Amino acid sequence: KTSSTPLLRFAPSPNGPLHIGHAYSALYTWQAASLLGGTALLRMEDTDPERCKPEFAAAIIDDLHWLGLDWPEPVLVQSERFDIYADAANQLRNAGLLYPCFCSRAEIAAAATESDPDGAPFYPGTCKHLDRGIQIERLERGDPVQFRLDTERAMALAGMLSFSVAGPLVTDRPQIRFARPEKWGDVVLQRKGTPTSYHLSVVVDDAEQGMTHVTRGRDMEAATDFHVLLQMLLGLPTPIYTFHKLILDDTGKKLSKSKGSQSLVDLRALGWTPQDVRQHLGF
Ligand code: GLU
Repeated sequence: KTSSTPLLRFAPSPNGPLHIGHAYSALYTWQAASLLGGTALLRMEDTDPERCKPEFAAAIIDDLHWLGLDWPEPVLVQSERFDIYADAANQLRNAGLLYPCFCSRAEIAAAATESDPDGAPFYPGTCKHLDRGIQIERLERGDPVQFRLDTERAMALAGMLSFSVAGPLVTDRPQIRFARPEKWGDVVLQRKGTPTSYHLSVVVDDAEQGMTHVTRGRDMEAATDFHVLLQMLLGLPTPIYTFHKLILDDTGKKLSKSKGSQSLVDLRALGWTPQDVRQHLGF
């Protein structure tokens, strides 16, 4: 996509109500779009059918409108685009970069000796060296399977990876940063029973929607290195990234991960106005 208008997005996963940390991210994105003279879009990242519910998506839209934010329609809904993500995965498969993995969560946890940047067990590559005959047999038998990127091989193909990171004020001159996707190991690109995963869909859609800038929380800095690798492999452009601060709870935990995190629904019930939320968050 060639566009001279800056395009940004807020891309929540509708697996719960919007909380104050999400509100910060949304307000930050709309402010960034306005500073850049661009437009902010909304995208629903609902590829996990077990956790994402249409009623959460509807509630998120209601909260965002209540905050005074709007966006061009239609909203891109990822669960309607599984074919497109499957095509992207096939592109990687045809390049010999995906392999089937039959490991269960428990098997991975038992075999792992390191953690990835999210603190999850680092996949030790068990299935990467599986005998081809056994692979085919298990696939034909219909054993639950996920597909992983052979990250080492992918990096050998991609070479040195760098991307631009703008300061907290998105209009700051971007700095070049090198990506180190290897710290994630062989990431799952197609989850069990699903033709995609978060990492694959987000990269495909940021390109599909012509994003020039991606604003996201600092907790996403490490994952971005992996996204830059996927963009290179799929021949997709890399947007400029900006990482914003996280809103933490009283104990210093990320809000979305903490138990009693304040949802906008709760705050609205307590009588907060959109102005109160903005002021509380510094907008
Ligand atoms: N959908 C993801 C989330 O809600 C993150 C969006 C992004 O890629 O920045 O955490």
